[in-house]
Amino acid sequence: MTAGTPQAVAWPILPGATLGVLGGGQLGRMFVHAAQALGYATAVLDPDPGSPAGRISHHHVRAAYDDAQGLAELARRCAAVTTEFENVPAAALEQLARALPVSPAGACVAIAQDRAAEKARFVRSGAPVAPHAVIACEADLAAADPALLPGILKTTRLGYDGKGQVRVATAPELAAAWQQLGRVPCVLEQLLPLAQECSVIVARGAGGALVHLPVQRNLHRDGILTVTEVFEGNLPEAIATQALYAAKNIARDLDYVGVLCVEFFVLEDGRLVINEMAPRPHNSGHWSQNGADVSQFELQVRCMTGLPLAQPRQHSAAVMLNLLGDLWFDEGAQSAPRAPAWDRVLALPGCHLHLYGKAEPKRGRKMGHLNVTAASAGAARATALQAAAVLGIAPF
Ligand code: ATP
Ligand code: MG
Repeated sequence: MTAGTPQAVAWPILPGATLGVLGGGQLGRMFVHAAQALGYATAVLDPDPGSPAGRISHHHVRAAYDDAQGLAELARRCAAVTTEFENVPAAALEQLARALPVSPAGACVAIAQDRAAEKARFVRSGAPVAPHAVIACEADLAAADPALLPGILKTTRLGYDGKGQVRVATAPELAAAWQQLGRVPCVLEQLLPLAQECSVIVARGAGGALVHLPVQRNLHRDGILTVTEVFEGNLPEAIATQALYAAKNIARDLDYVGVLCVEFFVLEDGRLVINEMAPRPHNSGHWSQNGADVSQFELQVRCMTGLPLAQPRQHSAAVMLNLLGDLWFDEGAQSAPRAPAWDRVLALPGCHLHLYGKAEPKRGRKMGHLNVTAASAGAARATALQAAAVLGIAPF
């Protein structure tokens, strides 16, 4: 529980109470599903009347994240509040925390909002990060170490799915990229030789209990997560152990309460480097809805209510395919979108379709995901590749 939690709140918060979430996107929607399955009522704060979570929630407060009245209404309706995205103003979380338990805490979300602060925090917790420099002004630009090139210039704030990032090879390219990004504070990161990417989801309760999901191997294309594979042997044992250790350390160091995803790079020389963290469930943890006995969204509910955190058990090998709006369009064609052949996909064994209820498919928009589960890694991969072929996702 965060500091300032009112004494009147009965703890744990049992089913029957109303739980709130800031943000009405797909993560909010899946949180709502999990909370409702456990018998809670839900309230979503999101300005969009058609938001994926708002449409299925008991209550939908249609207000901006910094709207004091909207926040007050959410606080009135709810016994506890969480967030589905990190770019909520820290002040909004603080306003809510004065009235009811909020997890994760605004201070943790504020760190995750800022790549520079986040990296500093990782270093503090003893985890290696990519060599980098903060570029906040002309002088920083001039002083940037040429050893960081080729690199990636990333805005410190508001980046997602590879947006707000430019690859740069030379000093003039770096200067042009900073201009292009609007001369906002950025981090210049050395471009690392990646062998693999992975992530770990941990969940930490108010009393310090800490559980985790198995290490997830992630494949990104064009800066967006495409495939997550979770099964025995997906990563070298030593890497998996280090990643788990680092993620747990960070959660403890932050005195974090809630679900936290930590993303890593595995370098060609076998070293593990931390990329970033998300103070919420993450796309790479979606497989847990069908491949584990407790999903990342149920963990989020348990953390925010003070329910016990039993260690989740993975019961099936799992592969998650992200379903981007591109799949609704024929390659290169200008024709109207059409739905992918769901019937052919669902004819395959162990396929679980999750669609987010977004009205309009657009290229690059996350429309849903497909979880493929099986008794063995080989079978899960084989079915996932068949499903990918049906959907038009390139083999992996
Ligand atoms: P998301 O929020 O979807 O995780 P993001 O916009 O925060 O993405 P990053 O995670 O920083 O972006 O980068 C997206 C992808 O770009 C990474 O998953 C990785 O594939 C690649 N990438 C990022 N930084 C580096 C780097 N320093 N060296 C090599 N590749 C990188
Ligand atoms: Mg990322």
